[in-house]
Amino acid sequence: MVNGGTAADTASVQGDDGQRQAENDLIRGKIEINGLNKIYTSGKARFEALRDIDLTVEPNEFVTILGPSGCGKSTLLRIVAGLEDYSSGDVLLNGDPIIGPGADRGMVFQGYTLFPWLTVRENIEYGLKLKGVPTLSRRGLSSYYLKIIRLEPFASAYPKQLSGGMKQRVAIARALANRPKVLLMDEPFGALDAQTKIEMQEMLLDVWEKEKTTVLFITHDIEEAIFLSQRIIVMGANPGRILQEFQIDLPAQRTAEVREMPEFLRLKRELAQLLRHE
Ligand code: ADP
Repeated sequence: MVNGGTAADTASVQGDDGQRQAENDLIRGKIEINGLNKIYTSGKARFEALRDIDLTVEPNEFVTILGPSGCGKSTLLRIVAGLEDYSSGDVLLNGDPIIGPGADRGMVFQGYTLFPWLTVRENIEYGLKLKGVPTLSRRGLSSYYLKIIRLEPFASAYPKQLSGGMKQRVAIARALANRPKVLLMDEPFGALDAQTKIEMQEMLLDVWEKEKTTVLFITHDIEEAIFLSQRIIVMGANPGRILQEFQIDLPAQRTAEVREMPEFLRLKRELAQLLRHE
């Protein structure tokens, strides 16, 4: 803290501290999934949700799983999150088996999951408070993430005062403030209107660039998958399985113009054709 500084100075110093803290804590996760099978059973009924899934997501990679509704995308993500068990195979985070939920994996869902009785800043600090992070460090981290998601003026607002897009920005900040090794995102922009969705995609890439975190993202939106990803894993249904993998060789800087590039449009056609048969 700066003696004699203004409140604004203090906030910015705390934000810088938060950035330093965020960088110091940086541990990028590697996800390894080998021969994963998931069968849901209910009485005598048996449903093969995932068959023989092999997937590695490298540290700092942005990988999207694209597939039609019901192909097992959420099941796969929930298994990586430790929220769902699996029938056979290996699921590892930095070499350790995933056996349950943990703060090393941040989740962002489609539904708004903020606590309505907490302010934006309190929502972002929630996990840190649970972990016993001291107030000043919490403040520094929340200031840093408020800046990253461009919601500094809304620090004291409550979720009901925010638009859908703003709520999802807070959800992303809250997940990142916990310094997860990976960020798991299940159709996080699925409920937003088209324009807000595009803004959120650009913001997410901005955040990913700054944070260098590993992202496993789920969507059934082809354009979203191409725009965001370094790699797309296409899944098919009945049983849920990997159909094909696409390396996305578009410029690292994903500006609006990227959506008009021949390679973008070619990928869009190819993916649409692949999914049409599913
Ligand atoms: P997606 O996310 O691709 O839409 P899900 O992972 O939600 O797919 O579901 C994959 C399949 O598994 C669907 O057919 C769904 O009905 C089935 N399923 C999901 N959860 C359960 C459950 N708890 N019990 C039985 N079947 C389930």
